Amino acid sequence: MKPAHFEYFRAATIGEAVDKLGGDPEARLLAGGQSLIPAMNFRVARPSQLIDINGLEELKPLVARLPENILEVGALVRHQQIATSPLVQRYLPFMATVALSIGHWAIRSRGSVGGSLCHADPAAEWPAFMVAAGAEMVVAGPQKYRRIPADTFCSGFMETALGPGEMLVKIEIPLAQGGWGFWEVARRPGDFALAGAVCRRHHSRTTVTWFGADLSGPGTVTVESEGGAGHGTHFWEDAASRVLAVDDDYMLQILGYCADQACRQAQSDEGRDYDNR
Ligand SMILES: Cc1cc2nc3c(=O)[nH]c(=O)nc-3n(C[C@H](O)[C@H](O)[C@H](O)COP(=O)(O)OP(=O)(O)OC[C@H]3O[C@@H](n4cnc5c(N)ncnc54)[C@H](O)[C@@H]3O)c2cc1C
Repeated sequence: MKPAHFEYFRAATIGEAVDKLGGDPEARLLAGGQSLIPAMNFRVARPSQLIDINGLEELKPLVARLPENILEVGALVRHQQIATSPLVQRYLPFMATVALSIGHWAIRSRGSVGGSLCHADPAAEWPAFMVAAGAEMVVAGPQKYRRIPADTFCSGFMETALGPGEMLVKIEIPLAQGGWGFWEVARRPGDFALAGAVCRRHHSRTTVTWFGADLSGPGTVTVESEGGAGHGTHFWEDAASRVLAVDDDYMLQILGYCADQACRQAQSDEGRDYDNR
């Protein structure tokens, strides 16, 4: 199908994009178009105008701010950039693993980290990763900039904490110590995951953030536990059944399995020597 009629506007500044967005509740920002354009083609989305932000250089930084121990990721940084960046390899290589699990090369080359976060699909990897990483979103609005912690940014099924006229500018990710693990189950390589888990382990404290599965919920749920890698699939399956609104036994088994695998990876990753450690 073809999209319904829409106006097209290419923003030259963040201020211009925010003004346009604030002036028309039916307008949508266009980032990589990998979620929005298919939705428009199916006429699930019918924006009155597309505000193209692809020319905004302020949305494209990928830098390590070392005195603050922060990795700054512009909203328009593409998934594939994260997957191949020497900087990411040096300071947060786990992030490249997550990026490579998103879709196929063509989707990763156009799709952006910010677009994925703002689309807020509960089966997407970035929202779960950002929650696990304790990231903060920097948002520009009609009056001012503000910061939103990752764990409140994706607020429901394809819903975010962005207010009218607000756009995501960048994400700040702490380069914190600890081990990382990630596991997901998808029907075919490149498909959205049925379910997955991100695990952080630091000083034997284990945090699991799940995604997928709980399609009516906020998309990510975190469980903290002492120990972790030795718990096994049943422990995590049980934890998932308590904190997620999932009553499908098969899905709970997948969630338990993903968490267990991710925890094992995080335990072995804890011993690795990154530049930020
Ligand atoms: C076949 C296929 C497989 C895929 N597989 C996966 C997968 O396995 N995992 C996964 O996570 N994703 C997957 N995706 C989605 C992909 O990751 C998209 O890149 C992502 O969801 C949206 O990013 P985008 O830059 O294309 O955003 P767009 O499609 O341009 O925009 C998405 C939404 O976010 C809004 N938006 C974009 N940028 C901003 C901003 N800076 N501030 C405020 N709002 C903004 C837009 O207005 C729109 O509503 C897949 C897509 C396809 C087509």
